[in-house]
Order: sequence, then C-alpha cells, then structure tokens
Amino acid sequence: VDEQRFDAIVVGGGAIGLACAWAAARRGLRVCVLERDRIGAGATWAAAGMLAPATEAEFGEDELLRLNLASAERWPGFAAALGDVGYERSGTLYAALDRDELEALERLRALQSSLGLETEWLSGRDCRRLEPGLTPHAAGGLRAGDEAQVDPRRLVTALAAAVEDAGGAIRTGVEVVEVDAGGAATADGCAFEGAVVVAAGCWTGSLVEAPIRPVKGQILRLRGERPCTHSLRTDRVYVVSRPSGETVVGATVEERGFDTTVTAGAVHELLREAYRALPEIAELELAEAFAGLRPGTPDNRPRIGRLAEGGPIVASGHYRNGILLAPVTGDAVAALLLGEQPDVDLAPFSPALAEAVAP
Ligand SMILES: Cc1cc2nc3c(=O)[nH]c(=O)nc-3n(C[C@H](O)[C@H](O)[C@H](O)COP(=O)(O)OP(=O)(O)OC[C@H]3O[C@@H](n4cnc5c(N)ncnc54)[C@H](O)[C@@H]3O)c2cc1C
Repeated sequence: VDEQRFDAIVVGGGAIGLACAWAAARRGLRVCVLERDRIGAGATWAAAGMLAPATEAEFGEDELLRLNLASAERWPGFAAALGDVGYERSGTLYAALDRDELEALERLRALQSSLGLETEWLSGRDCRRLEPGLTPHAAGGLRAGDEAQVDPRRLVTALAAAVEDAGGAIRTGVEVVEVDAGGAATADGCAFEGAVVVAAGCWTGSLVEAPIRPVKGQILRLRGERPCTHSLRTDRVYVVSRPSGETVVGATVEERGFDTTVTAGAVHELLREAYRALPEIAELELAEAFAGLRPGTPDNRPRIGRLAEGGPIVASGHYRNGILLAPVTGDAVAALLLGEQPDVDLAPFSPALAEAVAP
C-alpha cells in the first residue's frame, strides 16, 4: 500500500481545513491533512469564537450573510457531534455607551430589520438588568439572543481527534510547497497524491492564485470570574466570556502584511475600551496578548470552490467569520470532492472571482 496516496489532501490544519477533512472523512473519503506548524496555529488560535451572523452584518454583504446564517444553523449539530467545544448559545448584546454610539446602533438595527434579522431593542436599564457588570453609562442596546460562542482552541483539538476517529490522517510539521489538481509536494521532498483542498488561510496565495491577504488582529485573554454572559460588543471592542474562566477581549483590524507583533498601543486600546464597557475587567488576570492573521478578500467573502475545471479546490478567505463558517464550508467541500452539487449556492464565493462584484 502506498501510504502517500489518499482520496483528498487538505493543506492547512486550521478550523477550515479540519472541518473540510472531517466532513470528507465522515462521508467515507480517505483524507490526509498536511499542516506545517501545529494544529490550529494560524488565525484559528487567535479567534474569539463568536458565532454572530446578525451582529456582524454589514451593508452590501447579503450573500455573506446568507452563508453565515446557513452555517449558524448547522452549529448545534456540528458541536454536538464533536463533544465539548465550549458551544454556548449565550446571545450577543451590542451596547451603546453614549449618544453617538446609540445613533450608530439605530442604523445597525435598521439594517438588521431590512435583512429580516430578529434582534431586540433594549433601554440602558434593560441592558444592565441583563448584564449587571455593564457600565451605568449604557444608553441602549441590541440583543441577538440566538447568537452563540465556541472555544476555537478546543474546537480544533476536537476536530483533529474527530478526523482521526473517522479514519483520516493528520501530519503536522509538514510544509506544502506546490500543489496541482492531483497532489501536493512537501518541503522535505515527499509527494502526496489525491484531490487537493487548499485551506492555508492567509497563506493560500503562496500556493494558488487567490485574492487573499493577511489582516492582523490583536486580541487579549483574561482569566477570572466571568464579567458577562452574553458576548458583549460596542463599536470599538468585544468581550467574550466563557464558563471556563477565560475572557477574550478583541480585536484590532490592521493592514500590516504578515506582521504579528503585539503592540503596547493595541493592548492599551483594547483594555481601555473593554474597561469603559465593563469596569470589572480591571480585576481579571491578564493571561495572554496575541496577534493572528485573518484571511481577507477584496469583498470580505470567502473563496470556496474549484480554481478551474478539474483544478484544486480552494477553501479560504473566511476573514472575520471562519469559525462560524466552518460547518457549511466543510459540508460544501466534501460535496465537491464527491462530485455532488453542494447544498448551498457557491457561485458568489467562486475562487475565480478576483474582485468584488458590486452589490
Ligand atoms: C483576532 C481574531 C479574532 C477572530 N474572531 C473570530 C470570531 O469571533 N468568530 C469567527 O467566526 N472568526 C473569527 N476570526 C476569524 C477566524 O479566526 C478565521 O477566519 C479562521 O480561523 C480561518 O481559518 P483557516 O483554517 O482558514 O485559517 P488558519 O487558521 O490561519 O489556518 C491555516 C493553516 O494553514 C497552515 N499552512 C499555511 N501554509 C501552509 C503550507 N504551505 N503547508 C502546510 N500548512 C500550511 C497554517 O500553518 C495554518 O495552521 C478571528 C480572527 C482573528 C485574527
């Protein structure tokens, strides 16, 4: 038996690559994941884990919203099949802390209702009733009670175990240097044969032609008593708190190429804005400051599909929603590998789309 021959070779062991590998393995394909670092070492290690299709909605991003909603629907089943990954339907509270923020929030609410999204409008007092740690300056808020969170680090650990349980192989410390439709070559001179799925996050462009760039995000991890149960957002910061005692404060959005330096200014800004919303966070331990690189695209849409007829499959460019989009991406890529029509319309996410299509 040639050990280097598989039905599918997945390049990249982040949330997206592992979700694709797991879906394919569960459908009976022999898969191998090739990851040059450790499992989840890319953007996935930074991610907060908000599963927030409604509060992330932006003007002109209807196609992305549809995909986000389709994936959010799959999350309960996806999480249940993986075991304890910290999935919690704790809801999002988007709070306005002054008059300007209240006006901005009213615009977001108008956008959400135009898109048919259900959110609840709350007074400042109602916000404080829901989240007693919230500053008394809270002027109002939007609540999306259905939104959820997950722990991305537990998620990738569980996904890797699930891939292996389903008969898949995972090779870490293996860097892919070249791909084509029928296989991948590694830096140490090995050749892997099989249909290729490139899920290399912001590094995807070094293997295939794709309009994907790194977008830096700095993020903090605090430890101690939970300061809020909803994912709490303002215009300038979000706070996601888990039953495990981890509280995440994120995140910057910076165009700095492949730089992952943690800067004093960003740490200062994140703590200042989190403190403005939830003064109690000052008591928590500062456990970690980290920077990750989101795979961004010109239109903020992921790229999922074949690069060309008979060519490698791309699953990348998930930008700010790669954790949310893992279930739907995995299902779609497994369908493509099996020669089936995916159950979501992938046309708006074709890797052949170089530039944004005007909305
Ligand atoms: C600060 C921050 C906060 C975020 N918060 C959220 C959130 O709350 N909710 C949400 O849904 N999303 C969030 N995201 C976005 C999310 O993290 C990404 O969209 C998602 O992790 C992308 O997953 P991926 O598997 O495509 O990429 P990655 O996780 O970057 O994985 C790509 C992998 O490919 C490997 N690789 C690259 N090149 C090669 C090669 N040549 N050979 C072998 N392996 C290779 C890398 O080592 C890496 O492990 C956040 C991102 C950041 C940075």
